[in-house]
Amino acid sequence: MATIIFLHAHPDDECLISGGTIAKYAAAGHRLVLVTATDGRHGEKPADASTPEQLLERRRAELANACAILGVARHEWLGYVDSGMTGWPQNNDEGAFIRSSIDEAATQLARIIEDERRAADRLVLVGYDWHGNYGHPDHIHVHKVARRAAEICNIKDLFEVTLNRDFYTEAFEWSKNNGGDNDFDPRQPADDGNPMGEPESSITHHIDVSGHLDAKRRAIAAHASQANDTGFATEMSAESFLRAFGTEWFIKVGAPAPSRRTTLLD
Ligand SMILES: [Zn+2]
Repeated sequence: MATIIFLHAHPDDECLISGGTIAKYAAAGHRLVLVTATDGRHGEKPADASTPEQLLERRRAELANACAILGVARHEWLGYVDSGMTGWPQNNDEGAFIRSSIDEAATQLARIIEDERRAADRLVLVGYDWHGNYGHPDHIHVHKVARRAAEICNIKDLFEVTLNRDFYTEAFEWSKNNGGDNDFDPRQPADDGNPMGEPESSITHHIDVSGHLDAKRRAIAAHASQANDTGFATEMSAESFLRAFGTEWFIKVGAPAPSRRTTLLD
């Protein structure tokens, strides 16, 4: 059995882009470890959790629920503050993740990796693609921190979760042609000026999570305070949810691309 460690930027990121994979490997008996870099304090503030303390407490509870639903065996926080989107004044807040040195954060992650490694037959680390899927500064930092931790710990199996830009371009076009009113175009510049995710030509692993969509959907719904960001997913019909979320995509660092490998453990 393998130990698979995911580094994610904010509470709820684990569900939307990798929840199916976490649930799938946990259900197969592997040990799933989730490390969340920041507290997510700049997420949506619902009316009944409007103070920073209430929101942080709510988000911690929601993440604990999501972890239970997905089968996460161990969850750790790196303890950083959400840095907000590109150019926000919060980018400069004390404790903001993007102000931490890559080495400092990677050393924290490396401690968790080494701790897990003692009992692991095989260890896999998962970070983000080079621009964190859509350019959020904390997501880009996750990319760098996971790369550095992999170096420190000499990890051979380093994956980076991504979004398949070609797939979503086609999916949004299909939706528009079938009466959908969402005019989102993944090829347009996102937060950092780059288009969403990566082209299929860069992707090495296509993980079929269609058998684990119930867990993925319930885990997304567990982050109820962030319904403005996640409601689009939980409100979809089962058929649309399967179409949008039935596959999750990864780039294995150093592996030839494109390829269509179907397991992280090949
Ligand atoms: Zn995020």
